[in-house]
Amino acid sequence: MILPPSKGRFAPSPSGPLHFGSLVCALASYADIKSKRGKWLVRIEDIDPPREVKGASRQILLQLESHGLRWDDSVVYQSNRLSLYSEIINDLQNKGAIYFCDCNRARLRELNGVYDKFCKTRQLISEGNATRLIINSDLDYISFNDAIFGWQEQNLTTNVGDFIIRRRDGLISYQLAVIVDDNAQGITDILRGSDLLGSTHRQIFLQRMLGFPQPNYTHLPIATSKNNLKLSKQNLASELPAGRESENLWLALKWLKQNPPQDLKVLSAEEIVGWAVANWNPTTIPPKTIQRAPEGFYDTPCK
Ligand SMILES: [Zn+2]
Repeated sequence: MILPPSKGRFAPSPSGPLHFGSLVCALASYADIKSKRGKWLVRIEDIDPPREVKGASRQILLQLESHGLRWDDSVVYQSNRLSLYSEIINDLQNKGAIYFCDCNRARLRELNGVYDKFCKTRQLISEGNATRLIINSDLDYISFNDAIFGWQEQNLTTNVGDFIIRRRDGLISYQLAVIVDDNAQGITDILRGSDLLGSTHRQIFLQRMLGFPQPNYTHLPIATSKNNLKLSKQNLASELPAGRESENLWLALKWLKQNPPQDLKVLSAEEIVGWAVANWNPTTIPPKTIQRAPEGFYDTPCK
C-alpha cells in the first residue's frame, strides 16, 4: 500500500500579529512534518470577521518568512471556502444527521453544556436558527491516541450532546470548518495547542460521519503569561520582536524542551529551523496543558 504524503499545517486566525505562543505552534508543526519529509501548509482561519484585524494575515506571513518558516503550496483562506461548508451541511441534512435549534442562552445555561435534544423533533427551519449535529448513541464513544497527552476518550452523549456546527448568525463552527479544511488539504498530522484537546472527539465524530480519514493528533502545552492566561491579543501578549528572530526561535526550541545548544543562537533563522527539523523530538514535550512563556513575551500592552 502506498501511503499518502505526510502533510502538516499552521492555521492562525488573523486576530493580530504572531506572539510567542503562535511561534511555538508554527515551529513545532513545521519541524514535526519536515522531520517526516512532509509538506507544511498555511491556512488563514478568517471566518470570524469581528475578531479580525486588518493587515494581520499579511503580517503573520511576513513574520513566518522572517523566522525561516517557508510554507509549501499556496496559502488557503477559509473565507474563500464558505460554499464548501454549506455543501457539507446540505449533505448532512440529506442524511438526516442535523436539526435546527432556537433555544436561548438562558435555557442552554441550565443544561450545563450537554444539549438535551429539545429541538430535535420540532421541525424548525434553518434560517435564524442554530444547526445541531445528532450524536447517535451507538457511535458516541470516541477515543484517540495523542502523541503527547496519550490515550484520550470521551462519550459525546454525556459530555456535549448534539453540538452546534453552524451558529444562528450563520457562522460555521470551528469543529466543522477545521475538519472540512484539513480533509480538503489532505492534512495527515495535526499539531496545535492543548485548548483544542477536549474538542478533538467532536471533530473525529464529524470525520466519521463524513467518511474522512482521521489524522494523527499532537497537542502542545499552551504558552501563558504570568497569571496563567493563554497568550493572546486580549491577554497582553507581545508581538514577536522583529530583528531578534534567531533568539525568538532559540527560546521557542528551549520552551519545547528540544535542548538547543547555546551556540545555535548566533546562527540565522533558516539554520536554526534546519537544526530543529534534524533534531525534532516530540517525546520530550511535557503533557501539560499550560506552560509559562519566557519573560519579555507578554505583559506589554499591544495596540
Ligand atoms: Zn433548541
